[in-house]
Amino acid sequence: MELSHRITHLTGGGSDGWDVFYRARRMIAAGECVTELTIGEHDIRTHPAILDAMHAAAKAGHTGYAMVPGSDSLRDAVAARVQARTGVPTTRDNVLVTPGGQAALFAAHHAVCDEGDTALYIDPYYATYPGTIRGVGALPRPVMARPENAFQPDPAEIDAAAEGATSLLINSPNNPTGVVYSRRTIDGIAQVCRDRDLWLISDEVYDTQVWEGEHISPRALPGMTARTLVVGSMSKSHAMTGSRCGWIVGPDEAIAHLITLATHTTYGVPGYIQDAAVFALEQGAPLEEEVAAPFRRRRALAREILAAQNTVVPVPSQGAMYLMLDIRETGLDGEGFANALLDAHRIAVMPGESFGAAAAGHVRVAMTIDDDAFGRALRTLCDFAAGLAGSRPPTKLRT
Ligand code: PLP
Repeated sequence: MELSHRITHLTGGGSDGWDVFYRARRMIAAGECVTELTIGEHDIRTHPAILDAMHAAAKAGHTGYAMVPGSDSLRDAVAARVQARTGVPTTRDNVLVTPGGQAALFAAHHAVCDEGDTALYIDPYYATYPGTIRGVGALPRPVMARPENAFQPDPAEIDAAAEGATSLLINSPNNPTGVVYSRRTIDGIAQVCRDRDLWLISDEVYDTQVWEGEHISPRALPGMTARTLVVGSMSKSHAMTGSRCGWIVGPDEAIAHLITLATHTTYGVPGYIQDAAVFALEQGAPLEEEVAAPFRRRRALAREILAAQNTVVPVPSQGAMYLMLDIRETGLDGEGFANALLDAHRIAVMPGESFGAAAAGHVRVAMTIDDDAFGRALRTLCDFAAGLAGSRPPTKLRT
């Protein structure tokens, strides 16, 4: 029997750069001790108080069908949070609750792209982006954010690629680079969207993980509220990855359109999960900071370690739970380096190539293990790179 092309073609074919990851997983399954710095998931679990709220909600009977758009209380809580963070008036009619950010990305593209439309996205990208776009029948068109521009996308390059496009997908703070888009970048992107009449899909799932500078939501810029769909999630901000709870914030007509889609796809998010999300959001910034704190600490540690060597060049990043490291001094590409590191030291990192062409010659390190083990693994990575590059052991301070 034939299966649908829409799904068989989702990943675009060919090596997707995830071989190192699967190899590390096989080694672990075979009983080897591998230090995993691959996946973007916290090493802490969901806060017990959130679990208590979830349990209480389930015991209170919130286990039946939930409202498809999301419960009034969660939509209100998300609207209040977004309004407080951006100043843009936002009500529950601007919010659709989704089963996580990934479902929100898929639904947002479904809402604005018809079959055969071109959807722009920035390379390097979160691994699912091109497949998400293909999944709604649209054509993914990448725009490079280049290492020589510190991985800030260039609005002029987006403009040059925008002919005939319907939408643009951006992500700041960025996975995989950790870069937070500057005001200049966000202003330039907004200008291109207005000039080219593009929908902007702004993936802001790391908005609570900003270590330096500020997160600017483009929905708040002039003329952007009517053309921006913001994707948010409880996964990263509250260590609720397994609860599958996220949202889309956008114009009310777009949300009404998306509710029709949700009625025919997800049929909403479990009520007890939504109640737990309301409880979590009510805890405000202190809980978000507690969840983000380990990454803030490890980033500071990484800066010290990276400053004390001169082979690996860190991408100047200000947010998210990742470090992107330029390892071109070693003479290897990202995949070659990641494979060699796994063989030599049983440390698994992601090749930059897993996230698109722009990050070739880099590796992404997830800061998702305890501080001591993380520090040790990063020092080993740097020493290994120095050895490969034939340079002397680390001495020189990078300024
Ligand atoms: N967007 C980005 C940039 C991500 O890194 C992730 C997960 O790693 C997601 C969206 C999806 O997250 P979730 O579906 O858990 O909300």
